[in-house]
Amino acid sequence: MRMCLTSDLGGYYTGALEEGRDQFGLKGDFVTSPEISQVFGELCGIWYVAEWIAQGRQSKGVELIEVGPGRGTLMDDMLRTIQRFPAMASSIDAVYMVEASPELRVAQKNLLCGEDAPMTESKAGYHSVCKYNALPIVWTETIKSIPIAPEKMPFIMAHEFFDALPIHAFELVYVPATQTATPSPTDTAAPSTKTSHPTLQWREMLVSPTPPGSTHESLHTPASQSRDTPPPDFQLTLAKAPTRHSLYLPELSPRYRALKTTVGAGALLEICPDASLYAADFAARIGGSPQHPKPKPSGAALILDYGPGDGTVPTNSLRGIRRHRRVSPFAEPGLTDLSADVDFAALAESATRASEGVEVHGPVSQADFLEWMGIRARVDMLVRAIKEAPGGGGAAAAAIDKDKRVEDVRKAQARLVDRGPGGMGKVYKALAIVPENEGRRRPVGFGGDVVV
Ligand code: SAH
Repeated sequence: MRMCLTSDLGGYYTGALEEGRDQFGLKGDFVTSPEISQVFGELCGIWYVAEWIAQGRQSKGVELIEVGPGRGTLMDDMLRTIQRFPAMASSIDAVYMVEASPELRVAQKNLLCGEDAPMTESKAGYHSVCKYNALPIVWTETIKSIPIAPEKMPFIMAHEFFDALPIHAFELVYVPATQTATPSPTDTAAPSTKTSHPTLQWREMLVSPTPPGSTHESLHTPASQSRDTPPPDFQLTLAKAPTRHSLYLPELSPRYRALKTTVGAGALLEICPDASLYAADFAARIGGSPQHPKPKPSGAALILDYGPGDGTVPTNSLRGIRRHRRVSPFAEPGLTDLSADVDFAALAESATRASEGVEVHGPVSQADFLEWMGIRARVDMLVRAIKEAPGGGGAAAAAIDKDKRVEDVRKAQARLVDRGPGGMGKVYKALAIVPENEGRRRPVGFGGDVVV
């Protein structure tokens, strides 16, 4: 996944797509919530304003950090919204964008700073100046490059970022007694045959080349995947012996270890170590950590993505997406978007392990989050503004144009909160990492309210 998506040899996000082909939008491969409606980013902006108020309206040291900002639309909508709250807007020191793609970095700069704005390079990353409040914007390739300081209040956004991080997949297999004999720990002694109990062991699913001449039929490409692509070049095969990752990753959490008893042989498991590293980093910035102690936790992270919300571990979720259709993740590597379900419970566990200064809320469904954030009221306002705006051209044409725009705004709203089986409102979830307060204050959007 890492090679296919962000390799500097040319990954899906790093130059593999031919000139003029875009990841985003109707003509691209997928559409994301911020690209569907400006209201999405506005409500996320309001979420940070509410956190800033609830945490005592710090007058300086606020940082906005976005990981995987795509076209920059979400940050643009958030910044525009935050401008309406001048005291918060002036508390922001800098905006940080963590972006692996040089092309998208330029697209973000053009949107947030203007086409003509220069971008300079330093050891820290790339720099430009935002059209809002002349804020400095810094682009880095990983979050590790963003400095950590105890007085900072980081507001962190991750929208459809975690699903692009590479996973390891495992299957629990029954290993009969005869196969578990292990070589002796010393060279001189005879191999030990004492460990003759049958065991359950994790085996890693590995990516291996398909045999020459393979077809979709011979590879049994599932009917749920479009066969418009050439036959896959790779397939998943189960490792015959333990791998480095199968020996330690499934042992890291009680949730994974429990699968040996709750499911047994055949249990599947996906683990995303990078996701845990990012969640731990967010938590340490907000709540402090042994390496970076923070006298008073501050800031917040909002993670929006898709994945199970009931604490079950993701299984079989690696997918390829092309032109809005599911395709084999192994067909045309580099030209196909890859993603996997996000394990929100694992993110919560990593965050709370990394910092005693944070607590986690959610995941809640995107529909609940947006409705609690006031999507209905905001869309009603937008509709009123469209209807009341002076219409240009002929009155009849202007009325038709307005009706069409109102319809589009309402349709976009419906799409974001659609609770149907495949709808974005249900599949997408929101998770918040906030300063620890013994659960007394729930964040807005997660069942809480702003107390002014
Ligand atoms: N948040 C945006 C874009 C989602 S697409 C939206 O919702 O519209 C995923 C984004 O993450 C892209 O900007 C991609 O270039 C970036 N990305 C993917 N893997 C990354 C990685 N390992 N490090 C940094 N950025 C990454």
